Amino acid sequence: MQAVQYTVGGPENLFLGEVPIPEPRDGEVRIKVMYTAINRADTLQRKGGYNPPPGASDIMGLEASGIIDRLGPGCPPSVTVGQKVMVLLAGGGYAQFVTSPWQLVMGVPSQFSMSQAAAVPEVWITAYMLLHKLGHLTKDDTVLIHAGGSGVGTAAVQLIKQSGAKCIITAGSQEKIDFVKTLGAAAGINYKEEAVAERVLELTNGKGVDLVLDCVGASMYEENLKALALDGRWIVYGLMGGAIKSDVNLGGLLRKRASLIFSTLRSRSLEFKSSLVRDFSQLALPRFEDGTFQPIVQKILPLSDIAKAHTLMEANKTLGKIVLKVHE
Ligand code: NAP
Repeated sequence: MQAVQYTVGGPENLFLGEVPIPEPRDGEVRIKVMYTAINRADTLQRKGGYNPPPGASDIMGLEASGIIDRLGPGCPPSVTVGQKVMVLLAGGGYAQFVTSPWQLVMGVPSQFSMSQAAAVPEVWITAYMLLHKLGHLTKDDTVLIHAGGSGVGTAAVQLIKQSGAKCIITAGSQEKIDFVKTLGAAAGINYKEEAVAERVLELTNGKGVDLVLDCVGASMYEENLKALALDGRWIVYGLMGGAIKSDVNLGGLLRKRASLIFSTLRSRSLEFKSSLVRDFSQLALPRFEDGTFQPIVQKILPLSDIAKAHTLMEANKTLGKIVLKVHE
């Protein structure tokens, strides 16, 4: 089969190559991939900074949509060949076929195209995990979401709106802010032009936010600390603004009685991911069906344009998701 291969380096190091079709193991299904989608983590992996967890495919790609074409031993009767699915992967999505534990596949909402389905698993389940499993979101919360126009951000805003809570987002352009407001953000702050914490305090009558979804890290540390309410929860799940913060004073966090939480999804156990997929499906699939939630697909490119897709993402030109067509 064809799959994206790479040598460590820039987007130009990505290329299509021939590799063996994977065989489903015990409890796994094999999926003929129709579409996959790109994520920031893939660009880190390409640069040599984010290796797949033990046992995962060394092919990139954390999500896909497609049709189950073979079952390994031990799959339950509810899983059948021919089913249209979307799947959360620890790797392997940038290929014509991928295998996955059956527990990580979800049915495709009836009015979704397969390209929309490929835009769901990684960013929606990450946002669900951060808000509901780790952040214990309540309807009275105000949440600060950095990179509101990202794949994860555009999902998180919709999950927050549905829960009755409120969110403020940051983004690097007015175009992104305007779009994310249409998804339900109460306000947007251009972090390149405005003082983030000052604006958050203005918008919350001096109280600050109850929860911060932080995929930026070091460069946003002071702003997050100032913007956090007393007893606030602060979840770090990405480090696009750097990992090293040499002058951290823990006194600020103590005075806020802050909970500082770090999380990744890809390396979690099958047990954890299975329950996440089950709980997410229960909440979100009916809302995808009735149109309350919508995956944001900005562009669809052929898999052979993978270098272009990574280049666009790393230039911060994406709003929502770039999806890659693998099979018709
Ligand atoms: P994405 O769609 O590529 O969006 C990222 C956006 O972040 C960019 O378009 C850019 O938009 C903004 N940005 C980039 N550098 C920034 C900086 N230094 N400061 C502030 N904003 C910056 O990203 P994604 O795939 O949704 O992923 C978003 C983040 O979540 C990444 O850090 C990723 O690694 C993380 N993630 C973590 C997990 C986990 O389990 N821990 C899972 C999925 C994703 P602007 O134009 O607004 O600057």
